[in-house]
Amino acid sequence: MISLLENISLKPFNTFGIDASARYFVEIHSDADLQELIADGFLKNRLHLILGGGSNVLFTSDFQGIVLKTVQKGIAILEETAEYVWVEAAAGEVWQDFVLWAVERNYGGIENLSLIPGCVGASPIQNIGAYGVEAKDTIRRVNALELRTGKKHVFENRECRFGYRDSIFKKELKGELMIDSVVFELSKNPVINTDYGAIRNELEKKGIKNPSIKDISELICEIRTAKLPDPAAIGNAGSFFKNPLVNAQKVDELKQTYPNLVTYPQPDGTVKLAAGWLIEQCNWKGYKNNQVGVHPKQALILVNYQNASGLEVISLAGEIQQSVREKFAIDLEMEVNVY
Ligand code: FAD
Ligand code: NAP
Repeated sequence: MISLLENISLKPFNTFGIDASARYFVEIHSDADLQELIADGFLKNRLHLILGGGSNVLFTSDFQGIVLKTVQKGIAILEETAEYVWVEAAAGEVWQDFVLWAVERNYGGIENLSLIPGCVGASPIQNIGAYGVEAKDTIRRVNALELRTGKKHVFENRECRFGYRDSIFKKELKGELMIDSVVFELSKNPVINTDYGAIRNELEKKGIKNPSIKDISELICEIRTAKLPDPAAIGNAGSFFKNPLVNAQKVDELKQTYPNLVTYPQPDGTVKLAAGWLIEQCNWKGYKNNQVGVHPKQALILVNYQNASGLEVISLAGEIQQSVREKFAIDLEMEVNVY
């Protein structure tokens, strides 16, 4: 039996700490809850928004429709061989709890994604990524329900059209589905990924030569805790913009004026630029104006120091986009979902 709440503040439900409200709010404990809402006609012709941990959203006004908060739980092994396990995790599981579940059992593949806030259900949405690993590397299947009809859909990995911080769920199917669970293939013979300099430096400092996935997970938690703002203390939604992917010709042009340009060539021939570096070159790092600002340790993260409105944040984002456009002729795309 669902419990429908009215006129609820969303402040505790978004890590930016924006004080917007929802006209209706309901927790989804199982797909039966969603089916009940559909059968009652409650989703028909009404705005709706699925919310996990609220760590990748920015509310710029009150939400006039219904917010469906995913709280369904469960982690189960579906299949197991000598090499791998297939694990199904429910959408409402906290991502970090799932990472710890895997790390404790020495199941490899998601340890580099340690301490990313939010829920399992959102992990395919922007194909979460960190330290050289993306969710797409281990996601085998996404189970979803159509919000208008309740019809079940199963998306195999290639059907999710994963890209850099992107997927079909963030594009064509945005707002159409509720992801109910995700199936991951985790390795029983983990291969450690230490591509990122920050990981290698920490391993060296600690004198760890043959790290376990537990070592990697713990080390990443330490690095992230030291560098990133804790949303419980300072409102933020992580990186506000995506790192832009440009072609080699654009890199050559930029390097003539900016020889220190930070570049990461991609397998498809494009080149990833560090958006944080571009923003820093425009002198935004550490900027603060009343309640909004740019984090002093990572220029990609916009922050709400206390009671900023979503409109103040989006206005700052617009100013940053404009100065990056003027200086580098590059359009920064927002990573955060704005409502
Ligand atoms: P929400 O913010 O609740 O939702 C995000 C979007 O997904 C919304 O559009 C929502 O409608 C939709 N959605 C959520 N759940 C479902 C569902 N079950 N079905 C359908 N749609 C759904 N991201 C990274 O990729 N890498 C990082 O390293 C990283 N670090 C971060 C660090 C900090 C401090 C913060 C605050 C954020 C960080 N993020 C990072 C961003 C964010 O944590 C991730 O994108 C995360 O996956 C969002 O999960 P969530 O449950 O909070 O999603
Ligand atoms: P960082 O290590 O200071 O690196 C800055 C940028 O350079 C990152 O955006 C990263 O791209 C890129 N980069 C660094 N080393 C690279 C390598 N060896 N190969 C390819 N690209 C490389 O970044 P940070 O801010 O401390 O974050 C560390 C990791 O956590 C990054 O992977 C970042 O994406 C992730 N993170 C994400 C969010 C979010 O909200 N999306 C928030 C905080 C941290 P990538 O971003 O593509 O990895």
